[in-house]
Amino acid sequence: MNYKDTVNLLRNFRDQRGWAKYHNLKDLAISLNLEASEVLEIFQWQPSDQPLTDEQKQHLTEELADTMIYLIYMCNKLGIDPGQAIKEKVHFNQTRTWPKIDR
Ligand SMILES: [Mg+2]
Repeated sequence: MNYKDTVNLLRNFRDQRGWAKYHNLKDLAISLNLEASEVLEIFQWQPSDQPLTDEQKQHLTEELADTMIYLIYMCNKLGIDPGQAIKEKVHFNQTRTWPKIDR
């Protein structure tokens, strides 16, 4: 599904439930971070080298989708084109100096 279709799907889902009135930037930002925390919860107390079970991967897929949904709602509300924003940020990152990581 392309980005425009994704935005339309999410808008329709939200509007059919009358939830647009709750989608202010503060509550969207809170929801985005709560969903991102649910991603972390999957890894909490797991050894870092332990592969995910099929059940954990499915759960992770769902929580990443929840997180992306709130990112898209925020971008849409602010008129941000995610592809363009990513392109500009990668360009910026290519021009900056990064600290050396030595592990
Ligand atoms: Mg969730």
